[in-house]
Formats: sequence, C-alpha cells, structure tokens
Amino acid sequence: MNKFSIRKVPLNLWILGPMIIAFSIYIETSTTLEIDGLYWTANILMIALFSYYGGLYSGIILLLILSFIYMVVGLLPATSELPMQQQFPYLLGAIIALSIGTLGWKIKSNETQLKKLFDNNDITFWTWDVETDEHTFTEGFANIYGISIEELKENPYHWQDVVHPDDKDILLESIEKQKAGKKTTITYRFFHSSGEIRWLQERATPHTDKTGAITHVDGVIFDITDQKQAEQKMNQLIHYDSLTGLTNRKWFQNYLETALISSAKFGRSLGVMFIDYDNFKRVNDTLGHSTGDQLLILIAERLKSVLTPNDVVSRQSGDEFLVLLENRSLTEIEELAQKIIVKMNVPYKINGTEIISTPSIGISVNFDTEDDAEALIKKADFAMFLAKENGKNNYQFYNDELNQQMRRKMILETHLHKAIENQELSIHYQPQFDIATFQIAGAEALLRWEGRLGKIPPDEFIPIAEETGLIIPIGEWVLRQACRDIKRFKEKKMKSFPISVNISTRQLMAPHFIERVESIIAEEKVDPTLLTLEITESAFLYYEDAKDNIFALRNLGVGVSLDDFGIGYSSLSMIRNIEIDELKIDRSFLNDSLEDNRVRSLLEAIIQIGKKINTKVVVEGIETKEQIDLLSVHDVYGQGYFYSKPIPVDEFEVWCMNAYEKAGLK
Ligand code: C2E
Ligand code: CA
Ligand code: CA
Repeated sequence: MNKFSIRKVPLNLWILGPMIIAFSIYIETSTTLEIDGLYWTANILMIALFSYYGGLYSGIILLLILSFIYMVVGLLPATSELPMQQQFPYLLGAIIALSIGTLGWKIKSNETQLKKLFDNNDITFWTWDVETDEHTFTEGFANIYGISIEELKENPYHWQDVVHPDDKDILLESIEKQKAGKKTTITYRFFHSSGEIRWLQERATPHTDKTGAITHVDGVIFDITDQKQAEQKMNQLIHYDSLTGLTNRKWFQNYLETALISSAKFGRSLGVMFIDYDNFKRVNDTLGHSTGDQLLILIAERLKSVLTPNDVVSRQSGDEFLVLLENRSLTEIEELAQKIIVKMNVPYKINGTEIISTPSIGISVNFDTEDDAEALIKKADFAMFLAKENGKNNYQFYNDELNQQMRRKMILETHLHKAIENQELSIHYQPQFDIATFQIAGAEALLRWEGRLGKIPPDEFIPIAEETGLIIPIGEWVLRQACRDIKRFKEKKMKSFPISVNISTRQLMAPHFIERVESIIAEEKVDPTLLTLEITESAFLYYEDAKDNIFALRNLGVGVSLDDFGIGYSSLSMIRNIEIDELKIDRSFLNDSLEDNRVRSLLEAIIQIGKKINTKVVVEGIETKEQIDLLSVHDVYGQGYFYSKPIPVDEFEVWCMNAYEKAGLK
C-alpha cells in the first residue's frame, strides 16, 4: 500500500513552490489588486501539486503552512483585512485543489504499483496487436532478457535471437495457435544477455472483436529458472550413485538424449565411452566387497581427473562407467582413450594392497548416424566387448562391421545351444604319422559343426562355446564320441593307435572334470592309454589347479599332450613344472623354417627339448615334401595336409586301410 508522504513531493517543487509564492507576494505587495488573485492562484496550484505528488497529507500540510502565513504572520495586510465571506472562494479553491491533487496522486500510485508488479523480474506481461503487429512491453519484460526497454522496442522480435534453438519451435508453434484463437501455455529456455540459460513460462490469451477476428493477444511471462534449477538438482539427486557420487545410467541416457537434439541442430559431435574394468570381479571375490567399493571410488576419481569438467561421467552399473564427450574429433577421443588407459594402469593402493584394474573401453560416435541415446550406449557397449576380446586393457571404436560380427556371434551362440540335440556335430579325424616310417601313429579328433547355418569352422565356434560354457557339454560329447570311435576301430580290427582329443582350458578347470573323464572312459569301456588329451598352455594361468588335474589325468592312464607348443610365453615353464607325454610343436615354426634359419634352429632345439624330457614330439602342419625332408633327420611324428586332411570317420577308416599303400608316397 502506498502511503501519503510529504517526502514524495519532488525536490524541485520544494524549491519552486516557495519561489512562486514569494514571487506572487512580491507582485501583490507592489500592486494594489483588490482580491489577491495571483497570490491565491499560486497557493492553489501549489496545494494541487503537493497533493498530487505527496498525497492528501502533503496537500493539507501545505495548506496549513500557507494559512498560517496568511493569517498569523499577516504578511499581506491588504488580504488579511478582507472579511471572512470574501475569503471563502480561496478556501473552496484550496479544497478543490486538494481533492483533485489527491485523486491524481491515487490514480498515479495505483498505476505505479501495478507497473511495479509487472516490472518485477519474475513476472511481466506484453500485448501484441495482431492487426498492426505492434508490441507493447513493460520494462520488466526487457529486464527478464537483460536488455533495455529501448532495445526491446527497437527489436520486438529480440526473443527470436535469444531463444534456445531447441525451444524455438515451441514458441513458433504457440504463436500459430494464438493466431488461431487458442490460449497457450509454454515453457522455454533463452539465453540471457549475461549468457546464462534461463527458463520462462508464458501464458497467452488471444482476444477477438465482434466478428470473431483476433485483435490482440495478451501474455504473461514468468521466469521459472529457479524452479527449474531446483528441479534439475532434485533430478540429479534421484539419479545419483551414492557410492561414487556420479550420476547413474538413467540420468546419463536422459542427458544424452538432450545432447543429441542440440548436436543435430549444430552439427556437433558426440562420443560415448563405455568403460569396463577388467578384473574387478576378482578383486571383489578375493579382497571383499568393501575393497571393491573403495576401488570403485578411486576409479571414479581417476576417471574424472583425466576428463574436463564439461565431460559427463556416469556409473552404468557395477564396474562399468559411461563417459559423454561433446564436440571432440575422433583423434581427440582416441587420444583421451589412450590417456585413460595409461592413467588406469597405475596400480591402486587400498589398505596396503596394490591392486591393478585395467579398463576395456568401447567407443561409439554419432557421426553420420541417427542413433538415439540407447543405441549409442548399446554400440559403445558392443565395442567394449570387442576390446575385451582383443585382450582387454584397450579401446575399440564401434563400427558396423563389428556389429555384424557381434550379431553373427549371437546367432551362432543361439544355434550352438541346440547343436548336440540337433545332431549337427561330428568329428573328423586327422592322422598322425611317424615321419621316419610313414606309418600311422595316431589321430587327432577335430570337431565339426554343420547345421542350419552351414559349415561353421571350429576357430569361430569353439571360442563362443568356451565363452558361454557350452564347451563343457560339447567337450564331453567329443570325448565320448572319440571313445566310441576307438571301440569301433578296434571292432574293425584296425591297427591300434591313440586318439587325441582337444580339451579347452575351461573344460580342464571345470569342477569334476577328472571324474567326468573317468566315468566316460568307464562307461564306454575303452583303454585309457588309447586316449590323449591335448591341452594348451593357457591352462598355465591356473597353474596350481592345472598341475593337479594333469597329474590326475595321467594317473587315469590318459596321455597328456601340450598343444601349440612354442607360441606362448610360458611354454617352457609349463614343461618344467608339469610332466606331460607329448609336445605338439605349433605349425608356425615349420612354416617359417624353410626360409628362416633362426626359426629352423629354434624348431630343432624344441624337438631336442621334447626328446630330452622323454615326450613324444609331434610337428603340426606338414604340407610339403620339403618340410618332410627337413624333419626326417629328427625322428619325430608329424601331422598335416601332406599326409591327410581331417576327414569324416567313415573316410578315415578307409584311409587307414589304405595307409600302407599311401606310405608308398614316400
Ligand atoms: P588345433 O588343435 O591346433 O588343431 C589343428 C588345426 O590345424 C585343425 O584345424 C587342422 O585342420 C589344422 N591343420 C591340420 N593340418 C594342417 C596343415 O597342414 N596346414 C594347415 N594350415 N592347417 C592344418 P581345425 O580343425 O579348423 O581346428 C581348429 C582348432 O579348433 C583346433 O586347433 C583346436 O584348437 C580347436 N578344436 C577343434 N576341435 C576341437 C574340440 O573338439 N575341442 C576343443 N576344445 N577344441 C577343438
Ligand atoms: Ca590340437
Ligand atoms: Ca595345435
């Protein structure tokens, strides 16, 4: 409520007032007018002005002062001597001036109050004359945008320049609706002159004339930035991961969705990194969850330290993190991935224990794609899997080819589940022979899969079977089938020789593996010495268990062969610590021996090693006569296309019957 106040009378009036009065007194005293017209007029005018600016009280106070001068001081003897009746018009004039002044004051103060209300920074209003396209704004309207009313009047469409590009359509649409006579309520963002993004809510009401045509539109605008910011904070709190203090996947996805919209408008790039920590599960299992939690906190901190404050990091789940990189080139993204790997390879120290947890990073980018947030995250996830497959602790970009590979893998996986049941598996046999005599000395059972998807090479499906654990039932099937074939060969009175069966490390390490082998041998009633199990040195990773299992297998009477010998980094340690029956030298040695003398020397040395520790030595991948010649001096066994490719069991039987004739090839 606006109070009456003498202080509201402007300063110049205080100065001007007495001057006018004094001047009128001077005129009055120097002339001899009968009713002091000029003096009265000056007084009445002053009362009107005072009450207009300061309200009723100001006017009354002035009236009292003037009356005091008039009556008591008696500065004007001519006037003061007038009879009371003649003074009445003066009084009446003063009262009228007081009323008019006060009325003016009241109207004016109501208006300012109203104006103040709308010039407030949170609420303001505008009017738009649709016919003339004229806009009326209040000062508050300009304030909201952080510009002056003059600037706004000059450019009534200022909002078009500052509205957030993502929200422009919302505004344009609302204008169309208003033109169609509809009320609108919209919320949109704009850039304040300070550069800050602020939120407005606008309600507009169109008005029509008698004919129904839209004449003008009234609008009210609320600045709801504070409310929006509070909402966002709440949102962030809800989508917080309490352990690491990072936002969670849901928040990330929402954020990415918005980022994608503006990226489409401005052609800015977006890159998503999906980071998974390689042996986190092991840390959790061996050192406990609280150590695991501490590790996650350290990982999150380290990750943030590599990124800029503008990059978004969220925790996807468990040991998986998501990073959003805005406006970076492929090279920059790649460099960052390298930087993350370097930084993350420094061991962590938790409660005195050093822990290494390396990252596998999958990256997807939105260049030339119309992917939504979910698709981008999924692609980064796919790429992360590939990084894992590529030996972990590295990064991979998503690409369609990769996607195809993954899809194929998934299809293979689904079909592989039914491969045994659908009788799509079979075994091919590849003979091994004594290079000196060219006589058959054994055979390797090699798995084949041919089903609805056609022939799938073992190099493709065996890793899938290993990953999914399907290798356990499949491996048992191969073992049993090999045992049955051993019996079959015996029934057919073929020369007896051991059959080698490949055993993947996952199988070897599976619980009850030894019991399973034992019972299969017992059930199929075969001589265990006719069975050789080929293992690879990856078993060495689980050295202690592998050692026990290999020992147990040999106790069953089964032969153990070390496959692909020489290409791994622990081949020698393996034979140093574990007694085995056979060394199978990887075919890469033979391949290069003819051209490279060093490799040839190595091959010969390995052969010698095998012989010195009393194992059977088999050289793989013999394809040519020259290779045979190279090996013939060494008294070893061989296997390769030169002798025979792996062939189905029926063919293999026939082949064995003719083996001696084939030996004539020599
Ligand atoms: P591997 O155990 O090293 O088997 C030898 C591979 O070399 C076979 O490939 C065989 O066909 C091929 N090979 C034989 N002689 C020659 C030659 O002269 N030149 C060339 N270039 N290659 C030759 P295949 O049958 O495709 O098997 C690939 C791999 O799949 C095997 O490598 C083995 O690791 C795995 N595998 C096959 N069957 C089984 C199985 O039943 N269980 C398990 N766990 N793995 C198996
Ligand atoms: Ca093998
Ligand atoms: Ca091999």
